Amino acid sequence: MILADTHIHTRYSHGSSTPEAMYAAALARGLEFVAFTEHAPRPLGFDYTHEYREQLSRHLPDYLREVHALRKRHDPCQALLGMEMDWLEDQEDFTRAACAAQDFDLLLGSVHFLGHWGFDDGEDPWKAFSQEECERHYQAYFEAWERMARSGLFHVAAHPDLIKIFSVEQFHIWLAKSSSLALIRRGLLALRDSGMCMEISSAGLRKPCREIYPAPPIMVMAASLELPITFASDAHGEQDVAYGFARLASYAAAFGFREQTLFHDGRKVSIPF
Ligand SMILES: [Zn+2]
Ligand SMILES: [Zn+2]
Repeated sequence: MILADTHIHTRYSHGSSTPEAMYAAALARGLEFVAFTEHAPRPLGFDYTHEYREQLSRHLPDYLREVHALRKRHDPCQALLGMEMDWLEDQEDFTRAACAAQDFDLLLGSVHFLGHWGFDDGEDPWKAFSQEECERHYQAYFEAWERMARSGLFHVAAHPDLIKIFSVEQFHIWLAKSSSLALIRRGLLALRDSGMCMEISSAGLRKPCREIYPAPPIMVMAASLELPITFASDAHGEQDVAYGFARLASYAAAFGFREQTLFHDGRKVSIPF
């Protein structure tokens, strides 16, 4: 059984529930660890259609205070304080400062932007892309992903192949090429070199791609490199805490994974799932 969900959001970004309600959902599902990983404020110029930067900046002290209070409860579920950080090209100083601003238990590194385009914002632009255009975006995504991993700023690479979200068939055509696998392998090696974990996420099951992140060929390479893993729902509401975890456990086990990594008291611990 998976005992830790290490990626959840609250109403302080674009989620729907309070930290308290998310914690109660984690307790109800028998989790022993839950990591709050709210989106970090982004610099100007990196915007989604329904941008929540202001809300996040205004409520960051509330987020920190409420999660710190939950963190003190310990038993039977340990809450952890984290953030989901964006890897934004040419913004490393901004990101570095945000990572150092608090005493976080864990930090997720996520690529949601290619240049200034939030590629997971909506399906519309993807509908018009040819296979060739899609492949250029996949290439750019995994190049950025490797730089994110090499930065050494984060503990976990979140939703590793998020770029497939709106074009899963095209993605698998690209993924079948040896040059694509070689590029992704470089990213996975960067994770290993930086001591990072790879996240296995059920969020993709709720998105148009209808797949776990990451896809099987990436799981095979990660297993051969013996990368440590975490499990995540990326829940934005109580109903999705620990979403699809039985399925994630059998998926990971099928590739030979037997342990998940937890973050506790500034240490990484592996436990069976
Ligand atoms: Zn994300
Ligand atoms: Zn997230």
